[in-house]
Amino acid sequence: PSFQPTHPLALAPVTSPPHSVDGFVREFLRELNTDSGVTLSRSTVNDQYLSLARAVRHYLSARWLENTRKVRETKAKMVGYLSAEFLLGRQLGNALLATDLEEIAEKALAECGIDIATLRAQEVEPGLGNGGLGRLAACFIDSLATMGVPCIGYGIRYEYGIFRQTFVDGRQVEQPDTWLTLGSPWEFPHPEHAVQVDFGGHTETYVDTDGVERTRWVPGWNVLGMPFNYMVPGYQNGQVNTLRLWSAQATNAFDLPTFNSGDYAEAVRAQTFAENITKVLYPEDSTPQGKELRLQQQYFFVACSIRDFIDRFILDGDVTTLPERVIFQLNDTHPVIAVPELMRVLVDIEKLEWDAAWEITKKCFAYTCHTLLPEALEVWPTELLGRLLPRHLEIIYRINDEFLAEVRAAFPDDEMRARRMSIIAEYPERAVRMAYLATVAGAKVNGVAELHSQLLRDKVLHDFSEYWPEKFTNVTNGVTPRRFMRLANPGLSQLITETLGTGWLTDLERLAELEPYAEDAEFRAAFVRIKEANKTRLYRLLRARDQVALPDDHLLDVMVKRLHEYKRQSLKLLHIVSSYEQIISGKVDPSQVTPRTFVFGAKAAPGYRIAKETIHLINSVAAVINADPLVKDVLKVVFPANYNVTLAETLIPAADLSEQISLAGKEASGTGNMKFALNGALTIGTDDGANVEIRQLVGDEHFFLFGLTEPEVAEVQTAGYRSHEYYEGDPQLKATLDLIASGHFSGGDRTVFEPLVSNLLYDDRFMALADFRSYVEAQARVDAYYADQDAWARSAVLNVARSGFFSSDRSMREYIARIWHTQPLR
Ligand code: PLP
Repeated sequence: PSFQPTHPLALAPVTSPPHSVDGFVREFLRELNTDSGVTLSRSTVNDQYLSLARAVRHYLSARWLENTRKVRETKAKMVGYLSAEFLLGRQLGNALLATDLEEIAEKALAECGIDIATLRAQEVEPGLGNGGLGRLAACFIDSLATMGVPCIGYGIRYEYGIFRQTFVDGRQVEQPDTWLTLGSPWEFPHPEHAVQVDFGGHTETYVDTDGVERTRWVPGWNVLGMPFNYMVPGYQNGQVNTLRLWSAQATNAFDLPTFNSGDYAEAVRAQTFAENITKVLYPEDSTPQGKELRLQQQYFFVACSIRDFIDRFILDGDVTTLPERVIFQLNDTHPVIAVPELMRVLVDIEKLEWDAAWEITKKCFAYTCHTLLPEALEVWPTELLGRLLPRHLEIIYRINDEFLAEVRAAFPDDEMRARRMSIIAEYPERAVRMAYLATVAGAKVNGVAELHSQLLRDKVLHDFSEYWPEKFTNVTNGVTPRRFMRLANPGLSQLITETLGTGWLTDLERLAELEPYAEDAEFRAAFVRIKEANKTRLYRLLRARDQVALPDDHLLDVMVKRLHEYKRQSLKLLHIVSSYEQIISGKVDPSQVTPRTFVFGAKAAPGYRIAKETIHLINSVAAVINADPLVKDVLKVVFPANYNVTLAETLIPAADLSEQISLAGKEASGTGNMKFALNGALTIGTDDGANVEIRQLVGDEHFFLFGLTEPEVAEVQTAGYRSHEYYEGDPQLKATLDLIASGHFSGGDRTVFEPLVSNLLYDDRFMALADFRSYVEAQARVDAYYADQDAWARSAVLNVARSGFFSSDRSMREYIARIWHTQPLR
């Protein structure tokens, strides 16, 4: 720096404020008075929340700055986690926990006359993701900070995150998610680090000053990427990493001649156009829409991130050292355009030879695949990609040409193989297969659960795994126990700490030490009391939030996740309607039924018709069942709107039964399943995704398995699946579907749910009818088992004790060992 401070304070390292009630009160009031500009007596709840958040930040800043300095100085290799989604959840609770300020802050605020719970409830969670994929990214950066591994998360600061779901007459209505309107105390804007991002135009060759002919991109337009930093605090270890989210702005916000000519709207058009890029999160989960704006988003954030990393961490300008400084993890295909972008930077700007640049690029990326559904594999039409990013398309073509030459050399008489493996698809239109590009470029390719990784190798990317067997690996997903146990379930966490002592939250395999306590009646009783208290807490929330009253003596059966056909909320619904039908038709006496409350939580992509109709049906079934006096003591169905991380934190710890019922071979991993098991719910599930590993670990006796296995699914489909035959052959299933078709849940109108019923009867792509019989039988086993409350409690404790594997800390250790090869700081 060019300035020379002399004041002793300016020369000393940055320090944290004192960890005391008085110290905290001082920080809080200083924020309230000087930053919010109000006195305590005149402040609103929002003023208080913002000031509290900023006060907590003071306790993180010193370590954050120190951390960043150390990474730069030691040139430690970093993880650059590239993800279009980070579904963070509320920040305040996590920051208080990380800094060990929970008690101090609570007392400090109480001494200011404020109940901290009110301020916690004021926070709007940043919903910058759709579901599992975005939440996984958030868990991973939490774990890396907790393990002291240098990581920078790179993503998009959407002005509107995932929509807020409301119901009108039982139908989903989407409202914009205005998470920024009341202030965003967790972010640090850095306009001075803005990056220019180009789009459009054409490419041309030219003779450079060194006499070499080179290609350059002559872009047509550009925008600015404005970075916003977020602290990612480790759990009580003084480590703070960074999450850097990019927001788009116009480079020339004002067209002055146009403004002066009086056309004010036209003068700001460019600004509106640029800002559109990060305006809104695409709400499709697992079904990319191929929209131009989405490709703009993807390129925008990776171009900013690569430029940013080089500018901030490669201080000597020697880009050949990049592989020693960073590994960019591609969270699904959304950031894969980073591959040709890095090649462009290295070849066109840094003027490296193509081969040298490719060697560097191949070491800088690794790819995580998140799906098995063919429709979820992203492709970009070459027409669109070439128009938006002409230079990148050229680079992709060259990567592909050289790759296919290699393949042809390795398999000289197998042209079909080369065509199958081409990064460029020819039908139904010429398009770039982003998963293939990622696989060709990535040093490693991983699936997210054992079964998923195996199916990737055997099916989705079979040719590639034959060609590069060593490239493929598995890392089973995980979840952070700090948020999903300690914050979400303080009662259980306290019981565990009283039993095992501290340390388990960062060494979750230690939960295994709980195993003997499953045999201890006193421990089980304490566990059951906590579960009941968690239910009470949930019911209180639902009464206030959704005006529903729930009985507290029911088995609580929960299915929360995105609404998708492959996840099969419709199968859950068939079970509910079937239980109901058997009672109202007199086949079953209500006094014989295990009382259950069914909870759904699910958002549907706004354009996903069948998913939205399923939501309507769930709400309609709920309305009829909840109003029917015949079943009022035994069946309840609730569907609180707007399932998000905040709601998950109250719902999951209260659940008895976790529904993980996707068709085998369709769910890559799931992470909700892990959160339930860790909070002592028993799972009813198929042999799919990480359910397989959950069942192996907790044991068959403590898991309700049902349904076709993945090879059986393949077999039935090869033979020709006709769902109608299952309907004809199973009177209980027939009665269930007939009841829905009869208009019973739609005021007698048979047309309302006809499309849903027809879909199940004549298409049923995800084979709900094939698994119905097995599912209701498994549910009968649930009922029978639940009758023995003590056995159930024992199984629940064993689920907790045996699920330590599912900590995202373990996932991170595996990524580090198999893919990243990075070290903790110091
Ligand atoms: N949505 C939210 C808000 C979550 O917290 C999670 C994970 O727990 C998911 C979606 C993913 O759920 P699943 O793994 O069941 O698909």
